[in-house]
Amino acid sequence: MSSPGDGDGKRLEGPPEGPKDFIRAIVERDLKAGAHRSVVTRFPPEPNGYLHIGHAKSICLNFGIAKEFGGRCHLRFDDTNPSKEEQEYVDSIQADVRWLGWDWGGHLYFASNYFQQLFEWALHLVRTGKAYVCDLPADEVRRYRGTLKEPGRESPFRNRSAEENLDLFLRMKAGEFADGSRTLRAKIDMAHPNLMMRDPVMYRIRREPHYRTGTAWCIYPMYDFQHPLSDAMEGVTHSLCTVEYEIHRPLYDWFIREAEVFPSRQIEFSRLNITHTVLSKRWLLRLVKEGYVSGWDDPRMPTLAGLRRRGYTPEAIRDFLGRIGVAKTDSYVDIQLLEHCLREDLNKRARRVMAVLHPLKLVIENWPGRGQSGGPGQVEELEAVNNPEDPGAGTRKIPFSGELWIEREDFQEVPPPKYFRLFPGNTVRLRYGYIVTCTGFTKDPATGEITEVRCSYDPATRGGDAPDNRKVKGTIHWVSAAQAIPFEARLFDHLFPSERPMDVEPGVDWVATMNRDSLESLPGAFGEPSLAGAKAGESYQFERLGYFVRDSAEGRDSAGRPVFNRSVNLRDTWAKIEKKGSAS
Ligand code: ATP
Ligand code: MG
Repeated sequence: MSSPGDGDGKRLEGPPEGPKDFIRAIVERDLKAGAHRSVVTRFPPEPNGYLHIGHAKSICLNFGIAKEFGGRCHLRFDDTNPSKEEQEYVDSIQADVRWLGWDWGGHLYFASNYFQQLFEWALHLVRTGKAYVCDLPADEVRRYRGTLKEPGRESPFRNRSAEENLDLFLRMKAGEFADGSRTLRAKIDMAHPNLMMRDPVMYRIRREPHYRTGTAWCIYPMYDFQHPLSDAMEGVTHSLCTVEYEIHRPLYDWFIREAEVFPSRQIEFSRLNITHTVLSKRWLLRLVKEGYVSGWDDPRMPTLAGLRRRGYTPEAIRDFLGRIGVAKTDSYVDIQLLEHCLREDLNKRARRVMAVLHPLKLVIENWPGRGQSGGPGQVEELEAVNNPEDPGAGTRKIPFSGELWIEREDFQEVPPPKYFRLFPGNTVRLRYGYIVTCTGFTKDPATGEITEVRCSYDPATRGGDAPDNRKVKGTIHWVSAAQAIPFEARLFDHLFPSERPMDVEPGVDWVATMNRDSLESLPGAFGEPSLAGAKAGESYQFERLGYFVRDSAEGRDSAGRPVFNRSVNLRDTWAKIEKKGSAS
């Protein structure tokens, strides 16, 4: 089911085996019919933000098809809007596509490099009477367009001669007219049932420097004109986009036909939506700009940079995309499926370690070497398995002593029903260590907080075995206090409590619906000594607590402690849902 990837930096193979989606079926049919010698696709991001997991769907579809059918996929920046585009985004997008495992070879393109060629095609349309300069201001253009029920009205400037249009368009380019005072429009049909076809604007005047072309241009092409012709220029055979562009398709075809260029073809597929998050650069930009998150790579963000920092692997993301497939109807995908795919992947590769997030001191009263005044006493080395799923991962030594940290919730003064962990008189197994019995505890009289738990250990139970077949129901994890590595743990919750935060009621600002407690910092956590060597981006399973990754952006918190982000907890709700589904 998952994409075969070996994680050694080699390129991943194609998508999972299985029935072809409708787009792959079209490509296969076209190639068999000899419509094209080879398939050419493109991924066309606008560099106005960081990529999110919705883009990953488009990336894996475009690059995946090119790879499977022996063609090529271009990375083209659709950068024809000067106001929101930046080099920072160009760089991050390239890094993210590579991280996902794809390579565009020499096929890196910028639509802004096509400005001259696009301009010449526009001149061609002016000369052939298919485009005209219109002096209506933007709001008038809108008023003239009509509605779904009513046809539009023709602009009073629609019937200018080709000579006059040519002269005016050249002067638009030369900067003779004010911003917004004129546009170049395609001359199609003001009564067309599809509003897109009612003489759409091709060029507008805008004196705004572009991040690549500077002030060379003061007219900029609109998406609907630029996109099909950029595709054609690159010989793109199958131009894949999301369903909201379906109504643009007649216009796409019109420009291809009228400009007499390579017949690229647009095919739409459903947009990816995921519950409890938002997938739109515009919305994500607002979270960043207004400080609701720490940046585009905040581990709560559905951006590829955020997911990476959260501990997601390309393999987990590609497995997820393979499972949801490609269809034409929009839907929301349960975020638990994404988390399930991450667990499946990390389960195979993450080394197990012990760490304590909410520490409580456990003292072993009969531990050898403890003096009158207590102390850790003798230190013993115990052997622990690195990954039960991967025998090749080997074992490691962990220190054990008379003073340990355990998880606060693993002790209860008065145990609730079915509580098998520590409480006065009860016996538990310390993972990889000994069997201990609780002998007492200390409580702060002022706050009622438990400050220490005491126990005695059975020396005959080293490694956790009970030689006399004693029944011990609970096993808890621990860290030897004297050797513990202090660290900061960061736990995350969904950004939005609502399943579909993008479907807000009219009048409600979606930002107000955010979960303001989605980040929990635990600066007082302790880990076993082997965590000292954790590298940025390295994933671990903290036994019983979840998968954690050493933070790759900050690395250490303000007190110099290493930071570990929780990627996902260990409760696989999706696996339960699946089981239920197959049982019923
Ligand atoms: P956003 O709304 O996030 O800004 P966009 O479509 O405006 O997205 P582009 O940079 O234009 O962003 O997108 C590049 C490509 O990624 C397009 O082909 C677009 O259709 C595709 N894409 C964007 N969002 C999604 C999504 N949620 N699911 C699938 N494909 C997507
Ligand atoms: Mg866009």
